[in-house]
Amino acid sequence: MSSSEESSSEESSSERPTAQPRMRAVFQGFLECPAVEDPASSEADVVVIGVPYDLATTGRAGARDGPNAIRAASSHISWENRRWPWRFALRDRIKLVDAGDIEFQVGETRSMVSALQVQVRSVLSSGKTLLTFGGDHYISLPILREHAEKFGPISLIHFDAHTDTEDLEGEFDHGSMFLHAQREGLIDPARSVQVGIRTEYAYEDYPLTVLDTTWVHNHSASETAAKIVQVVGDSPAYLTFDIDCLDPAFAPGTGTPDPGGLSTQLALEIVRGLVVCNIVGMDVVEVAPAYDHAEITALAAASIAAEFLCVVAATENDLDATLS
Ligand code: MN
Ligand code: MN
Repeated sequence: MSSSEESSSEESSSERPTAQPRMRAVFQGFLECPAVEDPASSEADVVVIGVPYDLATTGRAGARDGPNAIRAASSHISWENRRWPWRFALRDRIKLVDAGDIEFQVGETRSMVSALQVQVRSVLSSGKTLLTFGGDHYISLPILREHAEKFGPISLIHFDAHTDTEDLEGEFDHGSMFLHAQREGLIDPARSVQVGIRTEYAYEDYPLTVLDTTWVHNHSASETAAKIVQVVGDSPAYLTFDIDCLDPAFAPGTGTPDPGGLSTQLALEIVRGLVVCNIVGMDVVEVAPAYDHAEITALAAASIAAEFLCVVAATENDLDATLS
């Protein structure tokens, strides 16, 4: 009998362990913010959630891995106390927490929709603002339902290569949910705007304002932002950013890339100009890290999301000092 067999102590055993190791989940909050299980009862101003769902994609799948890719990439920019070019520290103005990812039954879109709406409702009813990472763009529809329930029909500020207003038979499609949002009365089309569009849509009698890619490239970032502000006014606005609004050179890691889009720099400048808007909710969607290179796409998404937070935190007094 060997000495190890004689011993009852695990520490002294020379046998290879056979028991299942206990694993601790590795979790990194967006911008290295604290992770919480119950965001509604936290002291947060803004709650981050992820929706690892991509069953409504028409092109390449993979956006289910978007949330954690964006969180991981955000570590590259979390060191800045005062994010350039803002002259305040984000954490002085906004308490940010990350509640992790929505859990739902695998393969069941209705299960995702239900779980997501419950979480969004909980966060909104506690008076907090939500920043969601997709997932494919379909996830914006259940989120909009809960925002409309609280704020009434809201303005949509939508960055995308696609209008996502196709009249399709399928209920769950990442190319039609903003038509559903109109039919369900969730958004106010007259006060909604789509930016960076460069694909076909029903141009005739189209009810939303479209600033297509050519329009955006023929105007400055501040002119584009001013036009958005002119459309939405001071009404409660939901900000949604499909990463394929960016040119594939700046965002290759996405499911339905379309060449000829915005640069990351241009998008950031336009978003920065929305400081006077009354933004009540935000998402960044369609990051599919399997097609990404060197975190280009995930880092762009993290930067745009960080800019959203600065815009929400900023006041008009910060505007002149920042944008000149
Ligand atoms: Mn798109
Ligand atoms: Mn989209």
